[in-house]
Amino acid sequence: MNTKWVVEFEGLNPLEEGRREALCTLGNGVFGTRGAAPESHLSGAHYPGTYAAGVFNRLDTEVAGLRLEHESLVNLPNWLPLTFRVEDGPWLGDDDAAIVGYRQTLDLKTAVLSRSFRVRDLAGRETGLEERRIVSMADPHTAALEWVLTPLNWEGRLTVRSFLDGDVENRNVAEYAHLAGRHLRVVAMGEAGSDGCWIDVETTQSRVQVVEAARTRVVSDVERAPYRTESRIGHDLVVAAGMDAPVRVEKVVTLFTGHERAISEPRVAAIEALADAGDFESLFAAHRLAWEQLWRRHNLELGHEREIEADRILNLHIFHVLQTLSPHVSDRDVGVPARGLHGEGYRGHIFWDELFIFPFLNLRIPDLTRALLLYRFRRLTEARRAARRIGHRGAMYPWQSGSDGREETPTQLWNPHSGRWMPDNSQRQRHVGLAVAYNVWQYYEVTADIDFLATYGAEMLVEISRFFVGLAEYDAADDRYHIRGVMGPDEFHDGYPGRPGEGIDDNAYTNVMVSWLLQTTVDAHELLGDRTRDLWERLELTEDEVAEWTKVAQRLAVPFLDDGIIAQFAGYGDLEELDWEDYRRRYPNIGRLDLILEAEGDSTNRYQLSKQADVLMLFYLFSPDELTVLLEDMGYELEIDDITDTIDYYLDRTSNGSTLSRVANAWVLARMDRERSWGSFREALMSDIADIQGGTTPEGIHLGAMAGTIDLVQRCYMGVEPRGDVLWFDPVLPVQLHRLALSLRYRGHWLDVQAAGGMLEVSLRSSSDAAPVKIGLINHIVEVGPGETVQVPIEEGASSVAG
Ligand code: BGC
Repeated sequence: MNTKWVVEFEGLNPLEEGRREALCTLGNGVFGTRGAAPESHLSGAHYPGTYAAGVFNRLDTEVAGLRLEHESLVNLPNWLPLTFRVEDGPWLGDDDAAIVGYRQTLDLKTAVLSRSFRVRDLAGRETGLEERRIVSMADPHTAALEWVLTPLNWEGRLTVRSFLDGDVENRNVAEYAHLAGRHLRVVAMGEAGSDGCWIDVETTQSRVQVVEAARTRVVSDVERAPYRTESRIGHDLVVAAGMDAPVRVEKVVTLFTGHERAISEPRVAAIEALADAGDFESLFAAHRLAWEQLWRRHNLELGHEREIEADRILNLHIFHVLQTLSPHVSDRDVGVPARGLHGEGYRGHIFWDELFIFPFLNLRIPDLTRALLLYRFRRLTEARRAARRIGHRGAMYPWQSGSDGREETPTQLWNPHSGRWMPDNSQRQRHVGLAVAYNVWQYYEVTADIDFLATYGAEMLVEISRFFVGLAEYDAADDRYHIRGVMGPDEFHDGYPGRPGEGIDDNAYTNVMVSWLLQTTVDAHELLGDRTRDLWERLELTEDEVAEWTKVAQRLAVPFLDDGIIAQFAGYGDLEELDWEDYRRRYPNIGRLDLILEAEGDSTNRYQLSKQADVLMLFYLFSPDELTVLLEDMGYELEIDDITDTIDYYLDRTSNGSTLSRVANAWVLARMDRERSWGSFREALMSDIADIQGGTTPEGIHLGAMAGTIDLVQRCYMGVEPRGDVLWFDPVLPVQLHRLALSLRYRGHWLDVQAAGGMLEVSLRSSSDAAPVKIGLINHIVEVGPGETVQVPIEEGASSVAG
């Protein structure tokens, strides 16, 4: 379809269904429901799933003599079930009725999922079905489903069955098939009014109550009979259907959890909300308006000749980021689930992926990033406990986080290639705290929200700094500090050859980031000064400690290979080279070389390769100038040739086993090789829509990669960089783009920015009365106030201001 707002799927293909369900998930930040057919149930093809942000539960499983404990985002009762039958025929979804002309459409602009098809039963009776579905962005507790059933060549008794299904488990991920998955028990079920019902369930360990209530109406004369089993509740609605006379069915659902505030209890809240809820059309009108307002702020416009597909996928990515992290999240205690509210991959856990996600949100809904940072702040106690447990001061954020912020990384990983459990040592990734600190500082740069910095940010910066200073060991031999026994973001090295799980030394990404962190914490300390005296006192912070941070920042070790190339970690250059061609020839997809090599009795630890090249992340987070200065402060020189050599070196040795990898690749190439950058960008765009990892998208989208592609356009191609008190722009459009336009929020202003025809134009909308801001245009700074526009030729950098 030739529009950038619609994603369409034709025909039915059981092998495709999982990917479609994830891509067609509807959500509003509070809960999300996969795009499974309402008549479907758990089977090889279908996986209906509903997840509420932050609702986790813990289960134990005994496998292979091991006791494994996992905390998972819980699959909640399925609110979708809706089916029909003609006379005493089979129910749709239960039989092999012929489905004709099947089309599924996701409208990104209005966030409606539609389906349209005809059903022909064995007796030759044909019924048309048109479906629309929303998960309301206007009212985050409501969802609605509409069916229009049209008997095309018959008349008679039409029975519609609608129910809520509490008989659900977490069964979305094949690799977790050995693990316990029943997280809920049904507490009670009941009727609500003459046309409604509810189901009240509780998670088995965390004891979170979840209530769904549903009202199903048929817009014509109807006889109603209750439908009830041990874990299902609903109605059968019987209609005398006439030929070509459409029968409209509406199912409206409300969902409340025990985490909700300002309610007496979820059951009352769900039933009352259901009684208040309007019909499908009125719910849809409010939902459409909410999305119209969201798109007004989050739209990106790419000008190009033939790339409608890129526009559409970019819109799909913005859509899913906003469905997971909507403005409704701003007053909730939730983190950023790596796989959205779209499936059970990674058990709904929270990693470092927010590093790729916040830049887009910071510059549009800063309240939201503030809330997501508070998720981390509230888990400082747990992070302190984790640091203490390994003998350190400060705070150690976990690699995978869930409900209370303790380490949730599984200790064993199932390898489908070898049919073996492998030890998972990835919790040695200490760098999550660095991402948290980086995000705190970025949020501050964009908003100048000094109260946040004083009340929450500074405490995180100090505690994270303390932890890393504790990790750093001084070696008089080279007068350097070393951080040993960690893993960088590249998960393919959890130790040196023959010593798996022991970690590696002086991971360049970690050490450079720690240096940045310590300098930034010193700056924050100076900036806040007496304003946060109470905090410094409470944290027992002394001038000596601050001075030590500066010293460590300047003397952390960064390993180099020959020719000035930054080494991923100490000793990386001694590892063997992999025969990449051989592996490419033998395996269709070599992304997960860790699993492949283990199955061959080998290990990624032995080779110069990465899942994602973490050295390149440094170029993702810092401009070449910033990185050069950072390294200079650490006593290292980085020439421009070293930068290009470093980038080439790692691009050649990266398997891209993480979807985040291509985002970083496209980024570093943007200013070096624009043609290749566009290629990596296009690959990153395809991550989920084409499920390029070959089977992971059905388990949830990759939120970091989705947001990363948006951020590539924004920060990389438009060259947006909040630094100091200046918002910098330095556009470098890929050759495929002749225009790029976007809107940003910065320090209380809305800015409209456009790069086109060799000119960059930045306008501040007149609606704000916030103070003028400093805009950096390529290489010089101008002050711009509300209602003013600045323009500058992209090549030369000379600007003019117009009121
Ligand atoms: C990547 C991590 C990422 C995680 C969740 C892993 O495959 O290696 O960097 O945080 O997925 O997206």
